[in-house]
Amino acid sequence: MAEVHEACGVVGVAGLPGAARHVARALLALQHRGQESAGVASVDLDGRLHLHKGMGLVHEALAQVSWPEGSLAIGHVRYSTTGATTLENAQPIRFHSRFGELALCHNGNFVNGWTVRAALAREGAVFQTTTDTEVVAHLLARSTAKTLLDALREALAVLYGGYALLLLAQDMVIGVRDPEGIRPLVLGRAGSAFLLMSESCATTGFPAAQALGDVLPGELVVLRPDGVLRQPGFISGRGTGLCAFEWIYFARPDSRFEGETVQLVRRRLGRELWHEAPAAGDLVVGVPDSSLPAAEGYAEAGGLPFVAGLAKNRYVGRTFIEPLPEDREQALRLKLAAIPDVVRGKRVVLVDDSLVRGTTARYLVRELRAAGAREVHLRIASPPYRFPCHYGIDTSNREDLIAAHQGVPELGRALGADSLAFLSPAGARRAIGRPGCMACFTGEYPVPVEEAHGKYETEVPR
Ligand code: 5GP
Ligand code: SF4
Ligand code: MG
Repeated sequence: MAEVHEACGVVGVAGLPGAARHVARALLALQHRGQESAGVASVDLDGRLHLHKGMGLVHEALAQVSWPEGSLAIGHVRYSTTGATTLENAQPIRFHSRFGELALCHNGNFVNGWTVRAALAREGAVFQTTTDTEVVAHLLARSTAKTLLDALREALAVLYGGYALLLLAQDMVIGVRDPEGIRPLVLGRAGSAFLLMSESCATTGFPAAQALGDVLPGELVVLRPDGVLRQPGFISGRGTGLCAFEWIYFARPDSRFEGETVQLVRRRLGRELWHEAPAAGDLVVGVPDSSLPAAEGYAEAGGLPFVAGLAKNRYVGRTFIEPLPEDREQALRLKLAAIPDVVRGKRVVLVDDSLVRGTTARYLVRELRAAGAREVHLRIASPPYRFPCHYGIDTSNREDLIAAHQGVPELGRALGADSLAFLSPAGARRAIGRPGCMACFTGEYPVPVEEAHGKYETEVPR
């Protein structure tokens, strides 16, 4: 069975009438974090747990649901590039335990999830999904701990990785952020109700809501209809800090982590890139949408015009996850087009936020030339992506990571660019302005990756 690596979005609320409906709306605000499936679990006024989930975008997956009344709910959008795209793998999942009926969802990945799962299976556990989430459910269900929180602490002492986990019980929503703080989790409020969400932009799904700040690495937060309890250090760790890729690509630009707006970090990434790798160009073009702030920062720092030279079709699906290169190219043709009258005869500096397999860059360099660009200088506002992520941002096989196998000049030629430069890890760190995980760029894994599991190889510096 293929391992499922996922980057997802989660949101939960306690103490808000119509909680399920509001959570479903907040999932729309987290849609960029997952387009494969969506689900909401909620507790109705009689204390019964309800679960709704479906495949596709939120508005498809949760169409025509008549939401139960009640003030507690959690929700999830899922994004995975490998493993089964099935409804069984959609979250939240529901299960029985000594603590009553529970629902669980999470964003991220347990590095040793597969090992723990295999051990549980040997002891007779039957699994219905291929997600890590179910491993947590099994650990909770078989725990002999006195309270649900103790059982949760036990389960999370066994599992490690990068995660933000939400658990729905009869009378509370529980959230835990991984002890390294790799995956994001933000606390907020809507009137007297409290929220937990992957990103602050999810507040737009709730009436009069605001973000209060980040859940700390390893912190437990319990939301009850009448208040919130925070327990820092619930799981101990070193608090490495947020995934650099959240800043670079994944999060919505208006979201804020640690008091900083993502868009502004992206602009700084672009500025740093200019200082490290200026290009002699006539104009700067960004790849809509995620690289636009970095392109803007690059242009600003270099005093070059920042021009919309690419048109984006916002109605086609995801190009990144098409399994075959031909299909990715075909999907890209539908998604991004160079505008000849804008780029003809120009020396174009093309700025993208990241380069993974190189499909996007290779295609765009060719398109820009076909549209008449005289030169195309490629600038990537993050370091070469050389090491697979084990903490829940899905990346391809190491073989597919194009920067893992060749030097930058050679790679530039392979992509057809007149020149190629990446931001250095030090430059990325300066722009991000705080510590955090950068393992996919440096190979320094903050949480040991000690298993060679599934498609991922072992490459842990110990
Ligand atoms: P490549 O085409 O080199 O494989 O991927 C880089 C491009 O895909 C960049 O334009 C970047 O914005 C985007 N990208 C990077 N990581 C991800 C991801 O995890 N999912 C999706 N959908 N796009 C990504
Ligand atoms: Fe994020 Fe890269 Fe760390 Fe994965 S390895 S959590 S993508 S910074
Ligand atoms: Mg992109």
